[in-house]
Amino acid sequence: MIIDCHGHYTTEPRDLHRFRKEQTAAAGAKDKAVMPSRASLKISDDEIRESIEQNQLKLQRERGTDLTIFSPRASGMGHHIGDESVSLEWSQICNDLIHRVCALYPQNFIGVCQLPQSPGVPPKNSAAELERCIKELGFVGCNLNPDPSGGYFNSPPLTDKWWYPFFEKMVELDVPAMIHVSGCCNPAMHTTGSYYLNADTMAFMQIILSDLFKDFPTLKLVIPHGGGAVPFHWGRFRGLALNNGRPELDEIIKNNIFFDTCVYHQPGINLLTDVVPVDNILFASEMVGAVKGIDPKTGFNFDDTKRYIDKAPRLSDADRAKIFEGNARRVYPRLKTKAAAKAAV
Ligand SMILES: [Zn+2]
Repeated sequence: MIIDCHGHYTTEPRDLHRFRKEQTAAAGAKDKAVMPSRASLKISDDEIRESIEQNQLKLQRERGTDLTIFSPRASGMGHHIGDESVSLEWSQICNDLIHRVCALYPQNFIGVCQLPQSPGVPPKNSAAELERCIKELGFVGCNLNPDPSGGYFNSPPLTDKWWYPFFEKMVELDVPAMIHVSGCCNPAMHTTGSYYLNADTMAFMQIILSDLFKDFPTLKLVIPHGGGAVPFHWGRFRGLALNNGRPELDEIIKNNIFFDTCVYHQPGINLLTDVVPVDNILFASEMVGAVKGIDPKTGFNFDDTKRYIDKAPRLSDADRAKIFEGNARRVYPRLKTKAAAKAAV
């Protein structure tokens, strides 16, 4: 079985965009009276089926992957838009839509939630929506935004006690978080080309000099996009850790930090799998949409990441089994319930 731990619903039915446009305009106008109503949303099961079958499901089948850990469009989370109540309503709508996809295609998708974060609002306020999604919707994790400002990096570091009540809820529910920013409103940064990678790199550096995993030994964090700049600069990070009296990076990340394989070329995957312990790598593609199109040098889609794992020269079959499935089952323990349910069908 091949589990893709990083997929987004980037092909949402049209009415969701209509709602968000109206909600964003109303939030900007600071006039709650003109907020669109949730009841106005009209999305049929047929529209959902069409949006999935022509895209994510088609690509799963073509590329030979089985189950996608699926979350709302990351760039659409927009935590900087409106206030906490706007973020909560939008998050609930997006999470409920993911739930509908997972209910229609239970063999192919399992949910990860967006959180109702908002600039300056304590992360503990997102705990209730996390709990709803895990307990009521059967989700297996969340996307945690280290920068709800949308590109200005003015939140406390992830290692600050500010985040601790949320981490406590994650540990209680036994779910991991993928560290994932949203759309960038800082014009100096491109959303998927620089902002995402900057945030990934920032999160790793915050964590390796902290006592976060002494305080939360079972906390699990996935750093996406291959870990940003981390694998390429492994020596820099390792040297900084050792110079600050910290253990080897392998030891620091062992049971707690994981990188995905959303690195869209073979040399990048070769480096990732050479530098980062195999036990800390999870297969992912981030399809559909992070980087669209076909690489003219290979003739295959940039985000067809299974090919790179298949061809990585230093991986054994046992290594590949870990990257494709085994590691995801360790990091997302609630997949077990899913596997049991499948066996019973
Ligand atoms: Zn993503």
